[in-house]
Amino acid sequence: MNTHLFKNIVILTGAGISAESGIRTFRDQDGLWENHRIEDVATPEAFHRDPELVQRFYNARRSQLKDPNVQPNAAHLALAELEHAWEGDFLLVTQNVDNLHRRAGSQNLLHMHGRLDQIRCLSCEEVIVWTEDLAVNESCPQCGIKAALRPDIVWFGEMPHHMDEIYFALEKADYFISIGTSGNVYPAAGFVQLAWKARKIEINVKDTEISRAFQEHLIGPASIEVPKLVRQILGE
Ligand code: NAD
Ligand code: ZN
Repeated sequence: MNTHLFKNIVILTGAGISAESGIRTFRDQDGLWENHRIEDVATPEAFHRDPELVQRFYNARRSQLKDPNVQPNAAHLALAELEHAWEGDFLLVTQNVDNLHRRAGSQNLLHMHGRLDQIRCLSCEEVIVWTEDLAVNESCPQCGIKAALRPDIVWFGEMPHHMDEIYFALEKADYFISIGTSGNVYPAAGFVQLAWKARKIEINVKDTEISRAFQEHLIGPASIEVPKLVRQILGE
């Protein structure tokens, strides 16, 4: 019996794991996200100032998920396979707002920065599954109020979701694996420090701001390095 399979694992993913599925990261484009400045599309102030632009930006991101060329890649699939084989606690935390982990079959998955395929009503707080474009004047299907719907995305300056559950899992993690994240965005960039007893592994195409906090570095594209690591862990 492989006793290590009963240990606890926490995985953190960022935009880099979806890059090979055709979804662009943003730090790799000089801090621009699909040619937009973060301050213009990913803050509550931006939404207040220009809801039209912000809705258009997220409508484009949401509709990209329907592009038949955008599919989970070997890295997303390997993480789902690892979860199914794992006997201990397994938690996948993603900063991504795309739906590729779920489509690959991951189940114990937390979207700490929200989800493109959900919207939220500022009036009644209802969260609604939404895969179409969202118009600024749309009425809330729950409370009927107009123009109160926003993407269910955690913008800069807002509180990430599920933090209690994530901190609890990090505290008892035996493995912490960070994949395709630049280590620029907190609190996610600080998770490695909280996984105090874990074997800490970073996968990225290059060194990051937080590489020094990891014991092992796998440098290469996620679609190659993640399946390799999963095979290694399951074979140990
Ligand atoms: P980031 O854009 O800041 O950094 C991406 C990281 O991935 C970089 O360190 C880069 O070197 C690495 N990388 C690029 N290609 C890779 C590959 N093929 N294999 C392995 N690593 C690769 O991303 P972040 O740290 O996740 O922060 C971005 C924020 O922007 C997140 O909060 C997220 O919500 C949002 N965002 C999400 C998506 C998405 O959902 N797919 C896309 C862009 C931005
Ligand atoms: Zn409502």
